[in-house]
Amino acid sequence: MYIVMIASECAPAIKAGGLGDVVSGLSHELALRGNAIEVILPKYDNMRYDHVWDLHITYEDLWVPWYNHQIRCTVWFGFVHGRKCFFIEPHSHEGFFNRGTFYGCPDDTVRFSFFTKAALEFMLKTNKRPDIIHTHDWQTALTPVLLFELYKHYGMDKQRVVHTIHNFKHQGIATDQILWLTGLGRPEYYMHQDRLLDDFNSKVINFTKGGIVYANAITTVSPQHAWEVQNTDQGYGLGHALHVHNVKFQGVLNGLDYDMWNPSKDIYIPAQYDVDSLEDKYNNKKALRDRLLIEDNFRPIIAFIGRLDQQKGVHLIRHALFYALEHGAQFVLLGSGTEKAINDDFLGLKAQLNDNPNCHLEIGYNEELAHLIYAGADMMIVPSLFEPCGLVQLISLRYGTVPIVHTVGGLADTVFDYQHSDKPLNKRNGFIFNQPHYTNMEDAMYRAIHLWFDQASEFRKLIENGMRYDYSWNHSGQQYIDIYERIRHK
Ligand code: ADP
Repeated sequence: MYIVMIASECAPAIKAGGLGDVVSGLSHELALRGNAIEVILPKYDNMRYDHVWDLHITYEDLWVPWYNHQIRCTVWFGFVHGRKCFFIEPHSHEGFFNRGTFYGCPDDTVRFSFFTKAALEFMLKTNKRPDIIHTHDWQTALTPVLLFELYKHYGMDKQRVVHTIHNFKHQGIATDQILWLTGLGRPEYYMHQDRLLDDFNSKVINFTKGGIVYANAITTVSPQHAWEVQNTDQGYGLGHALHVHNVKFQGVLNGLDYDMWNPSKDIYIPAQYDVDSLEDKYNNKKALRDRLLIEDNFRPIIAFIGRLDQQKGVHLIRHALFYALEHGAQFVLLGSGTEKAINDDFLGLKAQLNDNPNCHLEIGYNEELAHLIYAGADMMIVPSLFEPCGLVQLISLRYGTVPIVHTVGGLADTVFDYQHSDKPLNKRNGFIFNQPHYTNMEDAMYRAIHLWFDQASEFRKLIENGMRYDYSWNHSGQQYIDIYERIRHK
């Protein structure tokens, strides 16, 4: 099959979160299975150019219709760790992708609808006619709308679209201005309950709703989350649209890129190891302590890695830190947020705990350090209030770092409690708490810390069980192929 991904991220060149990992990991898996895969991305000024090989111009003067004029783009080609990627660089005074940031600009809906339009225009002009176009999150959710309302009539009538929703909280909300800019026009047609109209605000369009209505198949990133978004408030208002279109909706658990995340080959850690050489993991613990200037003593390290965002349970993260310190553990945090208040709070905490030899807070984004923390920590806390899939717990399991998680979304699908799971003993791989409350989390942390101190051999079994799970793309890659096959001839 010939598959084109249109996305706003592809790790590690462009990564703000799990979406980047998924685009990159799934592309790799599909290519390994003999499919032809290409990825179309924006050419951001701040992407990691050191992860793009052989970057060169492949198409000059791509004129993209935009409102009543056209914007000229240059299209670049390069390999992101073997993935074939096209990067679209618009030349307009707005500098859509020259903002020093991937997201967070007031005109994000304009920037990404331009990108979506440009990606389709590029495919049209270069005669790319894939069997499947796979799009991701609100940034590219207008793709099936543009394809089936416009580009189909220009000759792209055989393409089928899978749209994956990684995060329901961000849906892409805009006024009808977007309709005029993209050439869709006709607000009286599109701003309708059955099409792009937001279900709760009759003055705006909702990109993700458009994706749901128009795509041939819709997925989210875990089976549990697929249930949650239809039956709880986690759908952030899209539950009804999903019910209407539920025959084409399903949850597919994200895989993890086992090449990128592999403790036996990881170049960012000083001591490579696997399940049979677990002793070497402790050299990484030592290296982590050296690097972060925390004391080398007989204590477990509990870590948190992730965006500092309400979604991730910031109050619980804060609480976990103090609970860990009070109960004889060390705590390491690597995180950054887009909300200033949250960032400031953690910066304050960092200053307050600066002299504490048992903890370190690193506020910022640091891929290399993340690898060392996964390898060096003993446990990983993931107290998310909602978590569509979550990669942090999957990476932790792969690195023998025992996850302590709130059972929600993909966390519930992948982590099974040491004591309370109905799985066989050799399939239990962590600690869970069912409610995102202090006392529930404390109970799970207490059990984890005490197992580490009092029953090292049992704790080690948990580590080994976790490392033996296969959360690679192997299984999920096949599920996506099945979806592609199902829709491609429809
Ligand atoms: P989300 O997509 O909601 O951010 P996921 O758990 O799906 O959460 O994916 C997060 C990914 O981003 C993981 O690969 C994690 O290691 C990485 N990550 C998050 N924050 C940081 C950070 N501050 N520095 C380095 N890597 C980070």
